[in-house]
Amino acid sequence: MTASSDKFYDYLIVGQGIAGTSLAWHLHEAGKKVLLVNDSSLPSSSKVAAGIFNPLTGKKLVKTWLADDLFPYAQQFYGRVQEKLGVKVLHQASIFRPFRSIEEQNSYLAQTADAGISKYIRPTSEQQNIPEHVHAPFGGMEVIRSGWVDLPLLLDKSRDYFESISQYIESSFDVADLVVSEERVGWKDFGFDKVILCQGFNARDNDWFSWLPFTPVKGQILEVDIPAAGDQIVNQGIFILPISGSRCRVGATYSWDPLDWETTEAAAQELEGKLKPLLKVPYTITGQLAGIRPSSHDRRPMVGIHPEHPRVGIFNGLGTKGVTLAPFFANQFTEYLEMDKELNETVNIKRYFSLYFR
Ligand SMILES: Cc1cc2nc3c(=O)[nH]c(=O)nc-3n(C[C@H](O)[C@H](O)[C@H](O)COP(=O)(O)OP(=O)(O)OC[C@H]3O[C@@H](n4cnc5c(N)ncnc54)[C@H](O)[C@@H]3O)c2cc1C
Repeated sequence: MTASSDKFYDYLIVGQGIAGTSLAWHLHEAGKKVLLVNDSSLPSSSKVAAGIFNPLTGKKLVKTWLADDLFPYAQQFYGRVQEKLGVKVLHQASIFRPFRSIEEQNSYLAQTADAGISKYIRPTSEQQNIPEHVHAPFGGMEVIRSGWVDLPLLLDKSRDYFESISQYIESSFDVADLVVSEERVGWKDFGFDKVILCQGFNARDNDWFSWLPFTPVKGQILEVDIPAAGDQIVNQGIFILPISGSRCRVGATYSWDPLDWETTEAAAQELEGKLKPLLKVPYTITGQLAGIRPSSHDRRPMVGIHPEHPRVGIFNGLGTKGVTLAPFFANQFTEYLEMDKELNETVNIKRYFSLYFR
């Protein structure tokens, strides 16, 4: 089939979270005609996420996987999309990490000898003052090349853009409506060269890929009013992300059972228990959100083409780091689909094909 018909698209992309949105942009930029189908009444992890990108994570200050590649690419991608959309979605912000003790101070400072780590830490001589609202008796350090992306705004404006060029449909997608043949993919009265499923947590219930080892993780965050929160992110066990003025997001929790989208009192208490000792100022909790991170068994993205159906693909498994993983691997996936370039073996679903054929 040629692309001459109005009803023919190169790609059907199911799901418009950060996975589907990043992929749609890359294919669009590569000159492909995509149709995004999304059901906004379904919960979405991207709408709950704080959107933070942080190159040094965990108690031990570990550099995140592929940070040197992922971070510059993500900033480039969000920069060019925000320019196209005419809204600011990319916010550069350093992350203040208060030391918990003198021992932690010494151990963190020793790590700055490692050039791979030190490029992400602001030199002591240039560090800003300790934020006034934060309790940090042992001082702290500043992680740089970090920040956050306003995912709800990016998703809404991207949807408007694709809708304006007739490449977005608001609809629920039932896998039973998909007709896959050797020549084409059919859905409703549209035809496609390929379909790529970007359904986040919901992909688990999709017969095409239910054999993949999805290991989803529930997470909750609080919406909190903190006066004079500034524009620096604070991170010690939890993050405090100033969104605008005194509006902040505080998170996140990790839990595996039950896997639902409901907020709980226990999570609110856990987060508040960590927030209170970190703040010197009064605060007001204004809301709470819950989501499910679409993680995989080995905590790496799951990207690629079905073992038996070359017209059906998946882009999933973004786990806790969708903001930085999505753009980089959407680019790689686009080059793989369109230019026959290699897909990183660590993310290619080929690593799990034995689960399909067993
Ligand atoms: C509390 C919390 C905090 C987080 N904080 C961060 C953070 O600070 N930084 C970071 O990088 N990551 C963070 N994450 C992780 C991030 O949210 C995910 O990695 C990312 O959003 C996953 O994107 P996705 O597009 O794969 O899935 P989703 O965002 O869930 O998108 C899936 C989309 O598919 C659509 N869909 C599914 N099924 C159907 C269907 N049958 N028909 C039509 N549409 C369908 C849904 O409507 C949805 O829009 C956080 C997650 C949580 C829960």
